[in-house]
Amino acid sequence: YRVWETKKVTTTCPHCATGCQMNLIVKKGKIVAVEGAPGPANEGQLCVKGRFGSHDFVHSPDRLKHPLIKKNGKFEQATWDEALDLIASKMTELKKKYGPNSLAGFSCSRAPNEDNYVMQKMVRTVFETNNVDNCARVCHSATVAGLAITLGSGAMTNTIKDITEEPEVMLIVGSNTTEAHPVIGSRIRRAKQNGCKLIVVDPRETTLAEEADIHLKIRPGTNVAFANGIMNIIISEGLEDKEYIAARTEGYDEIKKIVAEYTPEKVAAICRIDADALREAAIMYAKAEKAPIIYCLGVTEHSTGTEGVMSMSNIAMLVGKIGKAGCGVNPLRGQNNVQGACDMGCLPTDFPGYQKANKPEVISKFEKAWGVSLSSSKGLTSTEVFVAANEGKIKGLYIFGEDPIVTDPDTGHVNNALNNIEFLVVQELFMTETAAYADVILPGASYAQKEGTFSNTERRVQRVRKAVELEGEQRLDTDIFCDLMTRMGYPAHYDSASDIMDEVARLTPSFGGISFERLDRGESLQWPCTYSDHPGTPIMHCEVFSRGLGYFYPAVYKPAAELPDEEYPILLNTGRMLYHYNTRAMTGRSPGINIISNSSYIEINYKDAQKLGIGNHDRVKVYSRRGELETEALVGRKVNEGESFMTFHFPDGNANKLTNAALDEFARIPEYKVCAIKIEKA
Ligand code: SF4
Repeated sequence: YRVWETKKVTTTCPHCATGCQMNLIVKKGKIVAVEGAPGPANEGQLCVKGRFGSHDFVHSPDRLKHPLIKKNGKFEQATWDEALDLIASKMTELKKKYGPNSLAGFSCSRAPNEDNYVMQKMVRTVFETNNVDNCARVCHSATVAGLAITLGSGAMTNTIKDITEEPEVMLIVGSNTTEAHPVIGSRIRRAKQNGCKLIVVDPRETTLAEEADIHLKIRPGTNVAFANGIMNIIISEGLEDKEYIAARTEGYDEIKKIVAEYTPEKVAAICRIDADALREAAIMYAKAEKAPIIYCLGVTEHSTGTEGVMSMSNIAMLVGKIGKAGCGVNPLRGQNNVQGACDMGCLPTDFPGYQKANKPEVISKFEKAWGVSLSSSKGLTSTEVFVAANEGKIKGLYIFGEDPIVTDPDTGHVNNALNNIEFLVVQELFMTETAAYADVILPGASYAQKEGTFSNTERRVQRVRKAVELEGEQRLDTDIFCDLMTRMGYPAHYDSASDIMDEVARLTPSFGGISFERLDRGESLQWPCTYSDHPGTPIMHCEVFSRGLGYFYPAVYKPAAELPDEEYPILLNTGRMLYHYNTRAMTGRSPGINIISNSSYIEINYKDAQKLGIGNHDRVKVYSRRGELETEALVGRKVNEGESFMTFHFPDGNANKLTNAALDEFARIPEYKVCAIKIEKA
């Protein structure tokens, strides 16, 4: 090829929320390679998913190219007019017959902010309900709720650079960073090589745990006890920051009383760890001048996930480590734009920028801006939508870029819910397992075919740029939403993604200063960014917490909803692995990645394997009260005796057939990380 036939388009990785910058190399209208580009989080690095899993899927022959309507149980190709007219008439009919709250929409945390903004606007203006959510519900909704309650803002407090370059100690809880956020993982390893001490709290011997100075191999589901134990030791040793507590927080007396009961020995028994190691960890963290808490789904995906998150802020406030460089409470968000989907108001409780959907002044602000009457009734979370659908209360559902039949816990109950829904629309890149249930399927655009922005885990808004054209009859997702809104009586149109961001900025104080113009000039902006020359906010809660005083939430340890017993004696914990991303809709279409990793497995402790007569790589059957599957056993010491681990990446053994849909009281996040199973040789 001649040089002039090649172009490089700088964009943001579509996988995890690290937000690595990358160049898509385009030849003759196709992406042929991906290379790292300098960005604040990645400094030119990419992991295997970014480098090899970001382009094959864009041009995959499996991509949907035409709208499809199901007739007599089979999908038939349809025109856009036929598909959108049918959706408009069915949704209008259901709304009239059963009321607006019989409709719901799930937005896509892999899609840009602009798509998410317009999706929630569509649900609120033409479906006339607050039943809108995104997959943060099943990963970090506990973070959004928990950090909002304790600090006033449900987001990472510091920056990736800050927490990986400044600290003397890192306290990493429930995060397999090297596999789930590999570029952050490599920065942590670099910090370790430069002398930073690592305390890793994880039920598994992950690569990071192996490198840790202290590894607390905690029993899954005991985070609150662990946190209270750490606080007990800090207070007993007189290492709490009395001045900070007095000046900047409230609720200390109550939490002090509670944690007094969590002696190291009691906590060691609950968490099945060594009391002296717990003591050493607490003192090491408290004494360090700069020490961030970094956490992930090992904290959030529990029936007590929100209390687990609030326990992380309790620890950090106790030692005055919020609002300072090299410190803070730092959730690593999962999907590339799960932060942004929440920021854009794809939440039943919040309009864009976490403006509360139950506040009359917020409702009237959006009514005035959008020129409609808006619902003030409480919306349902996505997990509650499935419960309501099983009860016959949800009749119409619009799913944009999510595959809940694979990703949600207890596949059986999601299956029943989808069968119960009268009219299901799925807007997707591929024919997914959820799309197979749809009445209408609409072919959307991939990240490489559109303009927009993603917000990464550190609240940094970064550009997504179009590299290649749409194929067949694929349309931009925002155009599909606007067309449907227009057909349902609310004329909607945007000339560009930049116009959508301008509307977001007008209506959302924390995004008030963000525009494509600034981002394309090379500015790097983290919200809150409230006016046109605001520099953005790398570290939050510096002078004052977003809620005023930081709040010590009085968290008490409660066991997981389902624990091993005689019938199901082994605890199953679930998570991610390096090579694949969630349902593998994208990474599973990379031949190179599939050669390395293409099938499911369960990690079992060697002592359990001996008792059960199971050898390494044997086929095993796994049962829970909700389902069963067959997979390959990986026998070793990675998990403790009586525990096991699976991912949900692989259709030949999706852990979500087994997991428990028990929900957290605050955020309604399910308990993916603990359920009871039995294993036998196949
Ligand atoms: Fe993409 Fe995350 Fe890998 Fe970076 S670390 S290249 S954002 S998957």
